[in-house]
Amino acid sequence: MSATVDLKRMVREQLLGGGIRSRKVLGAFLRVDRALFVPPEARRRAYHDGPLSIGLGQTISQPLMVAEMVEALGLRRGQKLLEVGAGSGYVLALAAAMGATVYGIERIEELAASIPARFDLIGIPRPSLRIGDGSLGWPDASPFDRIIVSAACPEPPPALIEQLSDGGVLVVPAGGRHLQRLYRIQKRGGTTITAVSTPCVFVPLIGKNGFAED
Ligand code: SAH
Repeated sequence: MSATVDLKRMVREQLLGGGIRSRKVLGAFLRVDRALFVPPEARRRAYHDGPLSIGLGQTISQPLMVAEMVEALGLRRGQKLLEVGAGSGYVLALAAAMGATVYGIERIEELAASIPARFDLIGIPRPSLRIGDGSLGWPDASPFDRIIVSAACPEPPPALIEQLSDGGVLVVPAGGRHLQRLYRIQKRGGTTITAVSTPCVFVPLIGKNGFAED
């Protein structure tokens, strides 16, 4: 399926215009149509420059925010990636389109239930999915080359750093419940290198290493 005029405009104006330079990342956004990941009533705003509701009080982030996170991962073909907070499956689909083998954990079963069919429509291999508290990671499937957390944590979860392979990268919004910063943590030879960037606002990660439910 080739990208529509509106999707191409989203990529050109919001992502290229917003400073995303990775051709692999831009290509994945053209292949994975954001409209497939939002409920029917939000579809006419699918390429809107902001977050969108995916139902059940959860949101899919602004395209530029997602692109910055995926670019920060430095994802390469053949790598194993875990997403905590898989929601609609949009981020997982982008990673799969970039050639990663993808694993996702989502707390709300109803959200995760629609992910496999969306992957089938795009023609990318289905993810391994688990329902539950992703703040503890997925020890049985670890180590992961890349881990991305799509919900806000009080601090980067130690369990996730533990489950990175050597050279692995974790990207996670961490800080307060209402405002966070994006952390990029690389594990190398038993130590970690941390870079902190963009202020951001994510829905809370609810769980053991996350926030308490409202
Ligand atoms: N990346 C998603 C959007 C995620 S919104 C997408 O592309 O659509 C954040 C998601 O994190 C929500 O779906 C929420 O239910 C989920 N979540 C919150 N706490 C969680 C936890 N402890 N473990 C797994 N998922 C969690």
